[in-house]
Amino acid sequence: MDDITIGGTLIWYYYACPREAWLMGHNIVPDQENDNVVVGRYIGENSYQREKKEIVVGGSKIDVIHMEDGQMVIGEIKKSSKYRQSARMQLAFYLRELKARGIEAKGELRFPKEKIREEVVLDEAVEVELDKAQREILRILYLETPPVPKKISFCKNCAYSEYCWC
Ligand code: SF4
Repeated sequence: MDDITIGGTLIWYYYACPREAWLMGHNIVPDQENDNVVVGRYIGENSYQREKKEIVVGGSKIDVIHMEDGQMVIGEIKKSSKYRQSARMQLAFYLRELKARGIEAKGELRFPKEKIREEVVLDEAVEVELDKAQREILRILYLETPPVPKKISFCKNCAYSEYCWC
């Protein structure tokens, strides 16, 4: 496989399902017309339109929501809080990408349909967890075949389901 760049989306997939991370990391594109992909994309593109601006850092696109006391606040907007840990780690990964380039930022998760907001902080424990996740993602991506599918609650909303459960 080509050189691997781990981006925030891959972090999200890893926490949701390692098989999905492998499929995505091998450039196998999920069904773009899947209802959940369409709704997720719509919410991401159309929520907080007036506030956010997008920046590209490394392999990641990051939404900048606003500046607060001179500090950048970045956000991740999700359809549902059901996979909150995936979203937290994705946002923490973005905070670390910025920190590595000398930019201290704050993170804010947003779930507009549920009217929930949550601050995400990049502390030492989270950095250790991210290191572990990145090592594990590399291990998974270098597998010649994807991890076997395991039925989880996310499968019913997963755009890759035809690769697992025909
Ligand atoms: S359908 Fe289930 S097992 Fe297959 S990639 Fe999606 S979440 Fe993972």
